[in-house]
Amino acid sequence: MTSSTPPKEKPFKIAILGGGIGGLSLAIGFYKRHIPFHLYESAHAFAEVGAGVGFGPNSLRAMGLVDPVILEGYMKHVTHNAFPSKKSTCFDFYAGMDSGLGKEGEHFFELTTGEGVLGMCCIHRAVFLDQLVSLVPPETVSFGKRAVTVEETSNGVQIKFEDGSKASASAAVGCDGVKSNIRKMVLGKEDPAAYPSFTGKYAYRGLIPMNKAVDMLGDELARNAVMWIGKQGHILTSPVEKGEVMNVVAFKTKKDGKWDNKYWVLPQDRKGMEDDFADWGDSVKKIVSLMEKPDVWALFDYPPANIYYKGRTCLSGDAAHASTPHLGAGAGMAIEDAYIMASLLAEIEDEKGIEGAFRAFDAVRRPRTQKLVSTSQEGGRVLDCEGKGIGEDREKWRKDLAERHEWIWEKKLEDDLEEAVAMLEGMKARGGAEDTDYKI
Ligand SMILES: Cc1cc2nc3c(=O)[nH]c(=O)nc-3n(C[C@H](O)[C@H](O)[C@H](O)COP(=O)(O)OP(=O)(O)OC[C@H]3O[C@@H](n4cnc5c(N)ncnc54)[C@H](O)[C@@H]3O)c2cc1C
Repeated sequence: MTSSTPPKEKPFKIAILGGGIGGLSLAIGFYKRHIPFHLYESAHAFAEVGAGVGFGPNSLRAMGLVDPVILEGYMKHVTHNAFPSKKSTCFDFYAGMDSGLGKEGEHFFELTTGEGVLGMCCIHRAVFLDQLVSLVPPETVSFGKRAVTVEETSNGVQIKFEDGSKASASAAVGCDGVKSNIRKMVLGKEDPAAYPSFTGKYAYRGLIPMNKAVDMLGDELARNAVMWIGKQGHILTSPVEKGEVMNVVAFKTKKDGKWDNKYWVLPQDRKGMEDDFADWGDSVKKIVSLMEKPDVWALFDYPPANIYYKGRTCLSGDAAHASTPHLGAGAGMAIEDAYIMASLLAEIEDEKGIEGAFRAFDAVRRPRTQKLVSTSQEGGRVLDCEGKGIGEDREKWRKDLAERHEWIWEKKLEDDLEEAVAMLEGMKARGGAEDTDYKI
């Protein structure tokens, strides 16, 4: 093939159902690998919440593997810790109240990604989403399309949307988040794992102008990422928008462990948040006093699914493995999924290989992503001094959190892809997706 020969498109088309970070990353991965797709988004425009999102080293590597232009866009807009000495620092941990971890205001731990590795940095969600959107051709997207069902046909799938319209494709990937319709289709409505469950925690989110934060907290605490730790809660702050804004997420344990409201995101007045942090120290109270209109988010995740695909329909991102945000890795996992899924579909010749690709995806992605869900819940309890056998024991606490983050960050995705491709080759040689040695 000469350099002027256009690369050959795959002779099949994938419907991506949902255009959050997961669906858009997948679209970009498909586009780069010449896999025809169409993305159906339920909203009338792409949108993200007004808050920051942090990515660790594994997520950055995944962006580069899906398509290096994602990483370039991210690097252009990400905000690093302000102090040069803190380039590899993810968070400095301070005691937000007196506890076994330290006296209120005491610095007791610095979590770093290691020498020369960029620390976990925060970017405004809407800015990151805009970067992703700019890489997806507009003609490949339809808005106002809430997928309700996906049915298998003789040559692929037919998707039915809430507005009564239909679309056909060779296969579908459900990227429709933590309230996924497609998950119910894949697992069956009677499977309890098809439904999200409340994790017993909620979080206030808000953005504070950096000048106000600096006035209250000083340069070091406002302009670098910090976690304030206490009993049954923790508060995370990090600079975003090139240091113009401080992102705040303040977590609390819900005492009765229940969430009865049908809404998961509720506007709050500051009073409610002040009451929640009334017995915390001065620094935390100062942060709370700057939260103009915090939203409160109930934190739900998905129980482990026994499979991520059914025939020609597969789940990806939160729809497959929504997790709590305590280790800052859910969106990164959706980008990892996109890399493995797009690379596997690039390996097959025609639509007959799709189910095998989904099976290989399930085999390598399900163990890692489900471990994220459990380690993230456990990590949340450790952060809130509720960790089993850890509580407020400073040494155990530090070791536990360092190990959980290392597990997430040190993944070499190329190895998982190699394993999945070998599995796919095995299936091809044996003549089908069902005939495999893999125990999953
Ligand atoms: C408080 C909080 C903080 C977090 N912080 C971090 C962090 O710092 N780092 C990190 O990596 N992760 C973080 N996460 C997790 C992260 O936000 C998610 O893992 C990530 O956004 C999931 O992306 P997704 O595309 O899979 O799903 P979503 O973002 O939920 O996107 C789903 C999309 O599908 C659309 N949709 C829904 N239903 C349908 C349908 N039936 N048909 C068509 N379209 C549909 C929706 O409109 C939406 O656009 C955090 C989560 C929370 C709650």
